[in-house]
Amino acid sequence: MIHTFAITGKYVFMSERDTNPRSALKVNPGVEQPSVINPDAIRQHARRKPAIPGENEFLAGILEGNRTILGKAITLIESNLPAHQQLAQQIIEKCLPHRCKSFRVGITGVPGVGKSTFIEAIGTHLIGKGHKLAVLAIDPSSRKSKGSILGDKTRMEQLSANANAFIRPSPSAGTLGGVARKTRETIVLCEAAGYDIIFIETVGVGQSETAVYDMADLFLLLMLAGAGDELQGIKRGIMEMADLVLINKAERDNIPRAQLAKAQLVNALHYFPPTESGWQPRVETCSAITGDGIGEAWEIMTDYLNFAMNKGFFAKKRHDQDQRIMMHSVEELLLDKFYHDPRVMEQIQLLEEGVKLNRFSPYVAAQKLIEAYLSASQSK
Ligand code: GDP
Repeated sequence: MIHTFAITGKYVFMSERDTNPRSALKVNPGVEQPSVINPDAIRQHARRKPAIPGENEFLAGILEGNRTILGKAITLIESNLPAHQQLAQQIIEKCLPHRCKSFRVGITGVPGVGKSTFIEAIGTHLIGKGHKLAVLAIDPSSRKSKGSILGDKTRMEQLSANANAFIRPSPSAGTLGGVARKTRETIVLCEAAGYDIIFIETVGVGQSETAVYDMADLFLLLMLAGAGDELQGIKRGIMEMADLVLINKAERDNIPRAQLAKAQLVNALHYFPPTESGWQPRVETCSAITGDGIGEAWEIMTDYLNFAMNKGFFAKKRHDQDQRIMMHSVEELLLDKFYHDPRVMEQIQLLEEGVKLNRFSPYVAAQKLIEAYLSASQSK
């Protein structure tokens, strides 16, 4: 009985709402409302590409330290579109006179040694001292794996959130030479934006260390203790480039092993040829997780900086680097022109075939290609 009453009551209520014109609950059936957003506007918006600012707007943003604008300018550097490349070069030219005096530190070490944890720790320390830090990466592995050893994981979360830090993963495509050039150009923009410390990070497994060495003032190698082979696949050449070797993860039970590794490395370094600067490379232990040894590591880096400045080596090294970059660029530009020349492109397949069929030697084929290129450029 009660159940029936409840249904009846509800029915009365619904009916009153629908039929009683004086009820506040009355909903008139009716006119379909248009969308609050004009569909034409949506279509137009989708078609309109965001306007790219001009080089002066980029310059102003970069000099203001605007990280978004800096990031956009670097994207232009990384782009292969000719229009982007042209604008990027204009921005770089404009930025050149505004560069601050920076200290560029190359950092390498095998994956897992703790590079990003270390950079997070020392970066926070440096920002606390009033510096501005840019972290760039060179990771040619990204070309092969389509993912990057350095760039994939979320790295340096704390630093990325800091207004005085700028973190940029490696450009995701290109040859090592191309990636290195883009990183060098990125350094110019970062220096114009006031980043007085630039870390250039790479993985200690390939050729990229030499590229980083060629753009850094100090080269830092991170290692682990007790991983069996003390050199951990790191080539002797890389050890020889290091101005500072840090044995990371030196905390708790690992401290004695780290100390032992340090003693062995100090000993090994005695047998290395003296460095060009006359600086005696240093070996220390640290823990990026606990922060032990991080402040000391920075002190050694500044000792090196003062040493290199006083001896005139700092300026000489940068000058030598610039000269090498100039000559590398000549090689790169020539090769690029060569491989994009229509006559070379036409001949290359025929000549490859000829070499395969033993019709001529690879050396003769190479000469024929060069002749084809030179005659093409002379007839222009
Ligand atoms: P990366 O590949 O060289 O950049 O190395 P990561 O910074 O990503 O570190 C690799 C792993 O080692 C992570 O799990 C870190 O937490 C850990 N790690 C880094 N530094 C230290 C350290 O000083 N002590 C310990 N115990 N672990 C560390």
